Amino acid sequence: MTVRIYALNCGALEFDRHSFFPDVPRGTPMHVPVPAFLVVHPKGKVLFDTGFHADGVLDPVAHYGKDLAAYFKFFCGAGEGVVAQLRLLGLAPGDISYVVNSHFHFDHCGCNALFTRAQIFVQAAEMRATQAARDADRRPDRDWEGPLDYRLLEGDHDLFGDGSLVIVPTPGHTAGHQSLRVTAGSGLRFCLTGDACYTQEHLERELLPIAGAVWNADEMRHSFGILRRLRDREGAALIFGHDAAQLQSLRCCPNAFA
Ligand SMILES: [Zn+2]
Ligand SMILES: [Zn+2]
Repeated sequence: MTVRIYALNCGALEFDRHSFFPDVPRGTPMHVPVPAFLVVHPKGKVLFDTGFHADGVLDPVAHYGKDLAAYFKFFCGAGEGVVAQLRLLGLAPGDISYVVNSHFHFDHCGCNALFTRAQIFVQAAEMRATQAARDADRRPDRDWEGPLDYRLLEGDHDLFGDGSLVIVPTPGHTAGHQSLRVTAGSGLRFCLTGDACYTQEHLERELLPIAGAVWNADEMRHSFGILRRLRDREGAALIFGHDAAQLQSLRCCPNAFA
């Protein structure tokens, strides 16, 4: 059985470093990659996250509102973004059978609307919390909405029933955050953490981001423990959500890194 994993370059964001590392004073910009991942399995092609919406670059104020647009700068070069990256592999959005959203922040579900032929897996808790925030009109990023084939999960889910792709709840950053454990054809095991942990440094230092990026601090620390156990007991290499140094070290699309 051949399972391959590709890291897709979906552009980058720039914002105040303080929001990632609260012990750093405000005022220093930080540039972080926005990845998505394609897992090719004999039973279907699976996308983990979809990056941010193309309008994030073209007109962020119109798309996200002025507060979010003032906080983030959006970058997406030629050949970057989920559609362009899939094209490098000869694929189009219609070739994707399954999408796994780590969570519903704008840089993880921004292109969901393109994947109309996919089953989209998200934790029910994430859907409930995001719908409640929308109903209270507190969320400008609504890219998750649409007539899409959402499959709501309550906990772990073995996507193909063979243990090769297992969705693992890792709440804390958001109410229903989830990560994806992948066993590649080489036998090597990985965990795509999403924003359960932004970078290696956060895990090493047990460091949480600013309060605005944490739904529940105790849950987030607990999820750090889940990731450590996946690493230490199951031999999974952790692929962090926004770790520039790590992503630069991976073979990039159109090559598989595993
Ligand atoms: Zn997030
Ligand atoms: Zn993110």
